[in-house]
Amino acid sequence: MTAQIIDGNALARKVREEVAGRTQALKAKGVQPHLAILLVGEDPASQVYVKHKVADSEQTGLKATLERHPATMSEADLLARVKALNEDPSVHGILVQLPLPKHMDSHRVIETISPAKDVDGFHVASAGALMVGQPGFWPCTPYGCLKMLDSIGYDLKGKHAVVIGRSNIVGKPMAMMLLGRDATVTICHSRTKDLAAFTRQADVVVAAVGKRDVLTRDMVKPGAVVIDVGMNRNDEGKLCGDVDFAGVQQVAGWITPVPGGVGPMTRAMLLANTIEAAERAAG
Ligand code: NAP
Repeated sequence: MTAQIIDGNALARKVREEVAGRTQALKAKGVQPHLAILLVGEDPASQVYVKHKVADSEQTGLKATLERHPATMSEADLLARVKALNEDPSVHGILVQLPLPKHMDSHRVIETISPAKDVDGFHVASAGALMVGQPGFWPCTPYGCLKMLDSIGYDLKGKHAVVIGRSNIVGKPMAMMLLGRDATVTICHSRTKDLAAFTRQADVVVAAVGKRDVLTRDMVKPGAVVIDVGMNRNDEGKLCGDVDFAGVQQVAGWITPVPGGVGPMTRAMLLANTIEAAERAAG
């Protein structure tokens, strides 16, 4: 069997088109959806990420304001900026680019964002809403993974999903989303004994570890759906995921590539959350 590819670029394009349509509809009502992005310091990867976020937003008609602050900014000043944006009715989404400089407490900063504008879905209120099945904002990466499963019409009901990784922004919310779709969910992590024993039973495997070849061909049930969240570099310095793509592709039913899989979907879901925030604010 050769797995079918779930094309993240194509799906992200569809999501962006949908966001563009919803943005036009809000604009017609006199509302300009607006994402405020706060970047503190000069972290090179963060500079690239925020540039993409601004370009993605503008491409779909969303307004994006990028505030750049020096690494020497005090935490109190950053909190004051976040609070001001919370109070600004023209701003619908607030994103504080992580990581923050070491002298800042990222948790305190994120918790200062109004949950109504928490388009990254990192606030405790967002995590709680996901946990109890109430409307909130879902973190963009697992949300994008779920959309990828939806795109192939995959019915998760009663299926066994194994999530490898338990971070607060990927693994745990992914598990909650899958559970919300009536899957039976196993969460594996670095202390899991015999990872393969779990993955071999899985109908769906989501790998969110950050290590190459965490999932190899012998660990996958024939026909399973494999979602690769990982972002690593191979020996040639090229972007690769956590999954041994060439091997796993031979047994899986569906597989997401890296690049061109979860990455573009993560970017697209930020736009989806932003338009959602603007629509909720508009009533
Ligand atoms: P993280 O916070 O470092 O979490 C990694 C998880 O993997 C931890 O739960 C860890 O277990 C587990 N783990 C480590 N080694 C393992 C092993 N050998 N077997 C099983 N589990 C193992 O990372 P993250 O932020 O969730 O990100 C995970 C990966 O996704 C990274 O490569 C990151 O770059 C990528 N990512 C991609 C996107 C995207 O848009 N494509 C977005 C976000 C993240 P413990 O909890 O026991 O330590």
